[in-house]
Formats: sequence, structure tokens, C-alpha cells
Amino acid sequence: MNGSRVVVTGGAGFLGSYLCERLLEGGAAVVCLDNFLTGSPRNVEHLIGRPAFRLVECDLTGFVHVPGQVDLVLHFASAASPADYLRHPIETLKVGSMGTLHALGLAAEKDARLVLASTSEVYGDPLEHPQKETYWGNVNPVGPRSVYDEAKRFAEALTTAYRDSRGVDTAIARIFNTYGPRMRPHDGRAIPTFIRQALLGEPITVTGDGSQTRSICYVDDTVDGVLALAASDFAGPVNIGNPAEMSMSELAETIRDLAGSASPVRFIERPVDDPAVRRPDTTLAEERLGWRPRVDPLTGLRRTIDWFEKELSSPYSVAS
Ligand code: NAD
Repeated sequence: MNGSRVVVTGGAGFLGSYLCERLLEGGAAVVCLDNFLTGSPRNVEHLIGRPAFRLVECDLTGFVHVPGQVDLVLHFASAASPADYLRHPIETLKVGSMGTLHALGLAAEKDARLVLASTSEVYGDPLEHPQKETYWGNVNPVGPRSVYDEAKRFAEALTTAYRDSRGVDTAIARIFNTYGPRMRPHDGRAIPTFIRQALLGEPITVTGDGSQTRSICYVDDTVDGVLALAASDFAGPVNIGNPAEMSMSELAETIRDLAGSASPVRFIERPVDDPAVRRPDTTLAEERLGWRPRVDPLTGLRRTIDWFEKELSSPYSVAS
């Protein structure tokens, strides 16, 4: 990436901020576009002032113009937590559709490569396990989660159409549940919720009977995978995730133990269309990108808990 100029949409969000950081470390210039719907300038404030970094407030669903050369577009703008996309259903559909259209238009105009941040949610409540890229998914098009799942499925279709009919150099990353420092303690995703509850001694709220599984990937691994895809000429779609699968009950108990907490586990109602299982088959990423996750869940969770401990006691906490 050294010497290249990269646009990161959603760059002030959780994943986007790490991408901006790593790209700058690798010698790239970075233009971060964000409307701060679910992200915050605070996530990239440590980068502001670096000559190679520009933060631009921009709603990707409106007019998007970036002057000068662009070599790569990492299209990460979109609410990602269920609590966020259920609060912003239309915005989520718009950024997945119109936002992706504008990101692809930018890549086409600049003759740049574009990597789409797609998601394991395109597999819906999967009937194939683990999930390979060849699986088409099981998504309810009118369920509450459809605003996110279908927006991403549309974004994949649009990206493929730009590649096939306009010759734009694109790639699709299907990212599985990623966690790490800088997640918002109240963003509604399981890991920040469990950690916050464990650290504050509140009941840890597990949905359903806790037997549903997820496979969690530490942010550094996800970022490595996305950057490996960006640096390759592979179109994907390719799964980026950690196959280490665990039930939600196991996850809650692991977090409670690592946090040294005595919080009880409380079972609450399971959300509609919540997937029963989730595990990536990462063979394709290993073969085509030479990538596989390296951080085991205990190490990653420990690092994340340490960060949350500091964050929750900070007077500048964005604990919202
Ligand atoms: P996030 O909510 O922290 O970041 C998303 C960013 O996009 C935010 O900064 C938000 O303000 C910005 N944004 C939203 N709508 C926008 C618009 N119209 N114009 C400009 N900016 C806009 O979420 P995240 O976890 O960092 O996820 C980033 C991307 O990765 C998303 O596209 C998400 O679908 C994808 N993804 C994430 C995960 C995960 O586990 N974190 C898993 C699969 C896919």
C-alpha cells in the first residue's frame, strides 16, 4: 500500500478506524469519509494532524467527490450492529444500495480497486454449516434483519455487476463477527454487552437458551484479511473470520471468568430470525490470500476486556 492513496468509507467506525491506522502505518495516504451515524471522530482523533490523513464528513448516500488520485476504495460505511440497523433501517438500506453505488462510481471514475465489506449475514440463518462462499444463504427478505442482510446482498450484486459490465476491479469480503477495543460499550452486539455487564457486575443477558453459536474474530486478524484481499487481484467473495465456534452461553461464561466477575447469566428473549449457527469455512482465504486468523479468542477477549475497563472508567468515555 506504500505510496498509494486510499479512500476508506465508514473510516470513523470500529473496523474503518483500524484500517485507516494500518494503511497509514504502511505508508499510504488515507481519505476517511464518514457521516458519524454510528462512528465518531474520536475513533480517528489520534490520526488527525498526520499529513497523510484526511477526515471528511460525508454522507455516502448523497453526492460523493474526492479530488485527485485514488488507488483503492475500502467500502465499509454501514451500520453493523443489530441495535444500530434496527434503529436506522432506511439509512442502512440506503447506504448498502445508494452508498455502494456511489463508492463503485468513485472507483470506476478513478480506475481504483474497491473492496466491499460484506458480511456473514448474507448467509442468513444458514442451512449449511460451516458456511462456504458457494452457499447462497437463507434470508427472510421481510424480517427485521432484512434491512441489513438484503442491503449487503444487494451490495454484493451491484459490486459484481460493476465488475462484470463496467470492468471495475472489485473484491467482496464476507466478514464474520469481529470484536476488539474501540467497540462502543452500548452498541448492542454480544461481546461489548457481555463485557460491560461483567465489568459493572450486572446480569449478563444471553438471548434464547444460549445454545446458538458464533465464531468470533479479533479485529487485527480481520484487518489483516481485508488488507490481504485488497493487495491481491482476487475478486472473492471470500470469508474473513475465525472458525473458533462457541455457544453464546460459553461466550458469556468465558467473558465473565476473564473479567473476574460474579455477574449471573440471565436468559432473555431471542431476537426474530437470529441465526442458530455461524462458522466460516476459511479454506478459500488460506488458499488465495495466504491468510488465516492468528489471535485465539481467550487472548483477544482479554485484550478487549482490558480496553473496556479503561474506557468505562474514563471521564471521556463514549459509553453510549
Ligand atoms: P460501525 O458502525 O462501527 O462503522 C460503520 C461506519 O459507517 C460508522 O462510522 C458510520 O458512521 C459510517 N456510516 C454509516 N452510514 C454512512 C453513510 N451513509 N455515509 C458515510 N458513513 C456512514 O461498524 P463496523 O463494525 O466498523 O462495521 C464496518 C463495516 O464492516 C460495515 O459495512 C459492516 O457491515 C461490515 N462488517 C462488520 C462486521 C463486524 O463484526 N464488525 C462483520 C461483518 C461486516
